[in-house]
Amino acid sequence: MTISPFIISGIPRILFGDGRLAEVPNLLRSYGEHTLIVTGAKSFQSSPHWTNLLQSMSAQGVLWDVMTIPGEPSPDLVDQAVKLFKDRGVDVVLGIGGGSVIDAAKAIAGLLPFGNSVMDHLEVVGRGIPYQGPPTPCIAVPTTAGTGSEATKNAVLSARGIEGFKRSFRHESLVPDVAVIDPTLANGSPPEITASSGMDALTQLLESYVSTGSNPFTDGLALSGLRMVKEGLLPAYEGGAGEAAGRSAMAYAALISGITLAHAGLGVAHGLASPLGAYFPIPHGVACAAIVGSVAKANIRALRERAPDSPALAKYAKAGAVLSGQSAASREQAWDLLMETLLSLRDRLKIPKLREYGMKKRDLVKIANTCTAKTNPIALTNDELVGILKESL
Ligand code: NAD
Repeated sequence: MTISPFIISGIPRILFGDGRLAEVPNLLRSYGEHTLIVTGAKSFQSSPHWTNLLQSMSAQGVLWDVMTIPGEPSPDLVDQAVKLFKDRGVDVVLGIGGGSVIDAAKAIAGLLPFGNSVMDHLEVVGRGIPYQGPPTPCIAVPTTAGTGSEATKNAVLSARGIEGFKRSFRHESLVPDVAVIDPTLANGSPPEITASSGMDALTQLLESYVSTGSNPFTDGLALSGLRMVKEGLLPAYEGGAGEAAGRSAMAYAALISGITLAHAGLGVAHGLASPLGAYFPIPHGVACAAIVGSVAKANIRALRERAPDSPALAKYAKAGAVLSGQSAASREQAWDLLMETLLSLRDRLKIPKLREYGMKKRDLVKIANTCTAKTNPIALTNDELVGILKESL
C-alpha cells in the first residue's frame, strides 16, 4: 500500500506527568520577566495550586498580570485583553484552565505583538486578512481533560444567540510552544465536567481516526488515545481509588486528541457541535457526547450503502472493539459494540439531552444547514443530519 502524502507540523514541546505544574515558573522565567496569566474565573484561582504557583513565580523573579476568562471566549473579550496588555511588555502568555481559557490564551498571544482585532482573522465570519505571526510565546496548562487545545493550532471563539457563531482563529504558529500536562490538576473536578470533557476527547479521537484526512501516524496515536479513554473515563468520573490513574489516562487521551484533530481533521459530530454551541448554551463536550453515537450510526449506515470499500468501516469496527474492550466475531458485531458502548457511556455519564438547553424540533434544519464536515468519512445528506439531531433531542 502506498501511503498518501501527509504533513506533521506544529506539535508543542510536551511535559507530561503528575506534579509538572511545579516546573512552570522556571519555564516562564526562561522566556523573560513578564508573564500574562490567562485563567478561569473560579476553580483554579480558588485552588491551592494558584497560591503555590504565584509564590514560586515570585521566587523565580517572574512578574505577572492576570486576565480572567469567565466562560467560552468571545472575540470581544480577546480584543479587550489585547488592548489592555499590548503595551505592557509581556514576554510569555500562560494559559492555565479548561479549553476555553487555553483558546483565549492562544488568541491573545497571537495578537499581542500586533494589537489588531481577532475579527481580522476569524474563519468564515471575519475579515479574511491572513495572519502572519509570530505570536508572543504561549505555554498551555490544561485543567480539564478533553479539548486537546494545548496541542492544536486554532482558538475557538464564540458569539452566542440567534445570530451566533463559533469559529476559529487558526494558524500553524498558534500551536502553544509548550504544553504542560499535569493530570492532578483535574483531581476532584465536578463529575459533569469530567464527563463532558472526556466525551469531547473520545469524539475527537474517533472522528480523527475515521477521518478522510487520517494517516498511519494519526491512526496509531488515535488508537492509543481511545485505549486510554476505555481505561480512564469511568474511573476518572466515578472517583475513588481509580481516580488518579483515570485522570492520567484521560489527560493523555485529551492531549493526543488535540494532535490527531489538528493533523487529520474531524467529522460531523464537530460540524454539528459548533452551531449547537453557538445557538444554545450547550457546553461543547455535552454537544459532542449527545450526538457522537448517532453520528457513528449514520456514518456506518451511509458508508455501507454508498461506499462499502471505505477504510472507515474497518476503523469503526476496530474502535468498537477497543472502546468496549471486547473482541467481535464480525465487523457487524463490532459496529454494534461501538453503538452499545457510546450509548451506555452517554447514560452512565448522565449526559443531558439537547432539549434541556432550549433546543426544539423547529431548530433542527437550521443547525443541519450550517454543518461543515469536510473530512467526515462520507458526505451525509441534510435529512441524515436532521435525523442525527432528532435522535439526540
Ligand atoms: P471549559 O474550559 O469551558 O470549562 C468548563 C468549566 O469547567 C468551567 O466552568 C471551568 O471553570 C471549569 N473547570 C476547568 N477546570 C476545572 C477543574 N480542574 N476543576 C473544576 N472545574 C474546572 O471547558 P472545556 O471543555 O475544557 O473547553 C471547552 C471549549 O474548548 C469550547 O469553547 C470548545 O469549543 C473549545 N475547544 C477547542 C479546541 C481547540 O482545538 N482549540 C478543541 C475542542 C474544544
